[in-house]
Amino acid sequence: MNTDNAAARLAPPRRLDRERLMLGAIAVLVASLLLTASTYYVGLVAVVGVNAIVVMGLGFLMATGQISLGHAAFLGLGAYGSALLTARWGVPVLLAIPCATALCAVVGYVLARLTLQLKGHYLPLATLAYGMAISVCFVAAIELTGGASGLTGVKPLSVFGWVFDTRSTATLIWVVVALLLVGYRRIYRGRVGRVARALKSNGVMVSAFGVDVPATRTRIFVLSAALGGLAGALYACYMQFLSPSTFSLGASINLLIMAVLGGVVGPMGAILGAIFFTVIELSAQKLIANVLNLPGQVETMVFGVMLIVMLLKWPHGLLSWARLGEGGAGARDDARPVAVPVPASRMQAPVSLVAHNVTKKFGGLTALADVSVAIPGAAITGLIGPNGAGKSTLFNVLTQVYPATSGSVSFNGKPLPSTSQEVVRQGIARTFQHVQLVQDLDVLRNVLIGGYVNGRAGLLSSAFGRDRAEEARLMDEALAALRRVGLLELAGVKVSELPLGSQRMVEVARALMARPALLLLDEPAAGLRAPEKERLARLLQSLRDEDGMTVLIVEHDMELVMGCADYLFVLNFGKLLAQGTPAQIRSNPEVIDAYLGTDA
Ligand code: ADP
Ligand code: MG
Repeated sequence: MNTDNAAARLAPPRRLDRERLMLGAIAVLVASLLLTASTYYVGLVAVVGVNAIVVMGLGFLMATGQISLGHAAFLGLGAYGSALLTARWGVPVLLAIPCATALCAVVGYVLARLTLQLKGHYLPLATLAYGMAISVCFVAAIELTGGASGLTGVKPLSVFGWVFDTRSTATLIWVVVALLLVGYRRIYRGRVGRVARALKSNGVMVSAFGVDVPATRTRIFVLSAALGGLAGALYACYMQFLSPSTFSLGASINLLIMAVLGGVVGPMGAILGAIFFTVIELSAQKLIANVLNLPGQVETMVFGVMLIVMLLKWPHGLLSWARLGEGGAGARDDARPVAVPVPASRMQAPVSLVAHNVTKKFGGLTALADVSVAIPGAAITGLIGPNGAGKSTLFNVLTQVYPATSGSVSFNGKPLPSTSQEVVRQGIARTFQHVQLVQDLDVLRNVLIGGYVNGRAGLLSSAFGRDRAEEARLMDEALAALRRVGLLELAGVKVSELPLGSQRMVEVARALMARPALLLLDEPAAGLRAPEKERLARLLQSLRDEDGMTVLIVEHDMELVMGCADYLFVLNFGKLLAQGTPAQIRSNPEVIDAYLGTDA
């Protein structure tokens, strides 16, 4: 296998160097401030670190299409939680920090379960509501928190009698930032991270590749809440004094601004965002107070204007300005491909898919009316018919994207599972008529999404690097799938840069990654040139003959379908018009009348 060459092509050295350079610069800056600067600046560095921790979780949340307008509440819960545990109940600080983190994870879980069912604008509003509610509690619970005047006497971190001073606490905070950066870089590139990036725009697709979307969203939210708690607990030991205004709505908005300012396509954005936010804020202060001698209110305005300018100039944040993504292309630096056999089809015996009297109505429109089809196993079956006939709807019913209004579908003698994420686990993978790729990920990583069902790694095992063997195996499979569809050379290219025809072939490779027994292709040849169509026909034949795969293909190119299909179904106005071998269909007067015309 020439995967080594391919993998080498995937990681453009320039981009990596750029990222290393940036990281090095930040490390030197932070280290020198921590070692030499005055307590005031060390304080700033500590706060920037605390913010970076929260924003890393928040940024990943945002990368997956969720938003939290109340994240400072978790910071506050972590801070008050650990402070009270140590000050009131005598818990050692070292133990209080994980307790506060866990508390926020639990609260985050409950809030996620309550709010994630909300749709549209209601979800951000709900996050706003808990942000406000929790921060009000810090003021209202005077007995516990000291109310608006704050909580004093918070204990610093001490380990075996050695008390952390300001500088060492700030250093510890940055050690945590560095560890989280490593963990989050792995998460972004790992199994869940890949699909998480698609949750934002391609929810239907990720479900069809085995992702439990609500559970995944919940986990990501819980992780971000836990990080808020961790940051808060560290903040408490650093400050040793807590004021509720630190965790107000304004603070939540600032965290959001840091996330957007830095960019959410990678964890570095959180660090850049937190640093630049503070730099802009400070320079606005200096400019207004010292240079221009203007009153303090103007400072907020200048700060706002500076932010707007930066966001207009770099809408994807400083990461896009620095041209940094998640660090390299799809290939993980530490995931070296190992030789694994090309994945065989999941099923040895030919599959059978039978739809019985399936009807699908959209309101008053009947897209499918009493359609019964039996798809022969280990064969290529064509599904043809004019636009609007119901072909894609049948695909959607067969993959549980939509439940059938009535009728039943059985797969290998058993009823079809009720959710699309279970359907793919049974061995049915598909492509989409309207291409569903994550446009800002490269080809390889889009293909890897298809392997989600064949992996196990979760967020944490990715973060701790426990997914290396699995990633290497998936990577090899993805490269093999790409080679099979003839796109190996393009593995490292961003999908948005490919012509539509090639994007469709990326979808085919992604479907192969799920190791399907039954492959459903919805107009795969649209946009392909003649030699590419020939290649597709050869691929379908080899999937049938060598892998024993069952293929169901919707296609308008009659030469292609008639040339490679063993059997055909014809849909018209939601009804099954005819079925038979290509020769039978070609000479069927009803089909000629409705679809083929006389020149076919
Ligand atoms: P084909 O793939 O054969 O071109 P479709 O299955 O996409 O046809 O569409 C069949 C009919 O169902 C069309 O009239 C289409 O407008 C309608 N339809 C498909 N999906 C939906 C939907 N999600 N909501 C409402 N109508 C739909
Ligand atoms: Mg269609």
